[in-house]
Amino acid sequence: MVPASAAPVYIFPIDGCKTTYSRAHHDYPATDILTKKGCHFVAPTSGVIDEVNAVDTYSWKNNDGAIRGGLSISIIGDDGVRYYGSHFSKIYKKVVPGYQVAAGELLALVGTSGDAAGLAPHVHFGISWPTKAGIWWVRRGEIYPWKYLDAWKAGKDLSPAKEVFAKLRKVGEVPKRNGY
Ligand SMILES: [Zn+2]
Repeated sequence: MVPASAAPVYIFPIDGCKTTYSRAHHDYPATDILTKKGCHFVAPTSGVIDEVNAVDTYSWKNNDGAIRGGLSISIIGDDGVRYYGSHFSKIYKKVVPGYQVAAGELLALVGTSGDAAGLAPHVHFGISWPTKAGIWWVRRGEIYPWKYLDAWKAGKDLSPAKEVFAKLRKVGEVPKRNGY
């Protein structure tokens, strides 16, 4: 039996493959998790699917921030935090807005879609707060994720909720976009 008050469980979002991720990111807080094409992207915690981009419409001629991630998924965790992963090669059909995910559930496969075309396969991973649809400059990441990734990799349930909601209170739901 799992007690009803169980704290959220966190799972490292790549399962079954070696990974590396940088402790820096251009322009805004996020990280790129480098691994092999086809590796499993799993839900970092339980929650509900928010936005899904299931078709890669990116091209260098249409460098719109909303589609730069190619095949991408965002999840609103039961902790209230939004988790975003992008550049997938495949997203499973069940992954549509409103679909309930369990922590560690397989959602997509690693690839190079969007503006990762021609680069090493990786998942761009961003942690933010929920917004209305289409606010991609928040969705792509608002806090540095590696402290949490390190903990989850080590099997520790470190929640980013406190840091995420402290920043939300500071900057508001839809801050002005920085960077590109
Ligand atoms: Zn990135």
